Amino acid sequence: MTFWGTRGSIPTPGPETARYGGNTACISIDGPGGRLVILDAGSGLRPLGHDLMKQHNGEITADILLSHTHWDHIQGLPFFKPLSSRDTSVFIYGAAQEGVPLKDILGRQMDPMVFPVPLNALAAALTVVEIGEGEFDLEDFHVCTFRLRHPGTTLGYRLVPFSGGRHLAYLTDNELGPGGSYEVTPDWRERLVRFVEGAHTLVHDAMYLDQIIQARAGWGHSTPRQAVDLASEARCARLVLFHHEPEHNDAALDHLLMDTRKYAARVAPGLEVEAAAEGMRFSL
Ligand SMILES: [Zn+2]
Ligand SMILES: [Zn+2]
Repeated sequence: MTFWGTRGSIPTPGPETARYGGNTACISIDGPGGRLVILDAGSGLRPLGHDLMKQHNGEITADILLSHTHWDHIQGLPFFKPLSSRDTSVFIYGAAQEGVPLKDILGRQMDPMVFPVPLNALAAALTVVEIGEGEFDLEDFHVCTFRLRHPGTTLGYRLVPFSGGRHLAYLTDNELGPGGSYEVTPDWRERLVRFVEGAHTLVHDAMYLDQIIQARAGWGHSTPRQAVDLASEARCARLVLFHHEPEHNDAALDHLLMDTRKYAARVAPGLEVEAAAEGMRFSL
């Protein structure tokens, strides 16, 4: 898996954010059978698209799994170069929002009023698949979804490779703390732990610091320590902090990672903790 965008919103560009990068949520995964899976279509989708054009000349087939349709998770789509190629097939999976079909929401950010090329005029074959909580199969992975505590219908994903490799859990835009009111059952936390249980790598929202999480209750995000607690409860081997606060520069994120590792050493010995940075690669 490769990280192309790790932010919750785009920071002011500059050398002080060069290492972690400034793009919003996007991760690519090369399936064991060679099919590409993309988690979220934030602005990181743009550099991924350019890389794919270089490597495959636009002839790709990809499955894009959207956590939800907040802008930082779909804004890369209009700038995804492979969509201008006739040889590209893209399947986009995600939930409808408040009765509005997913295809309509994606179409709105490419409405002629705001973008020159409408969604239905792209050269690539585009299929939008609406999903909710449940399970379905991609070419190389069995996929399980789970409703998260975030405004709107937001889905977390668990990817189970058919080849029998390690599992990945991707949970971003998720409030682990008690704040907010969401359409989830009272046993949400227990079910969440079971959903993540035993996944090797957990990529989790870690947007806010402990000092400000109280003031951000109901915004639908978590702290790095809350993510450690979940990874520990669910016996994950690796936690990747994700959806970074745009105001945090490289030095702030380094400091936050060090602090989180110290905390993890106390409460979850053996847990590997990383902070997602653009260009970072892991094998599953
Ligand atoms: Zn977000
Ligand atoms: Zn969101």
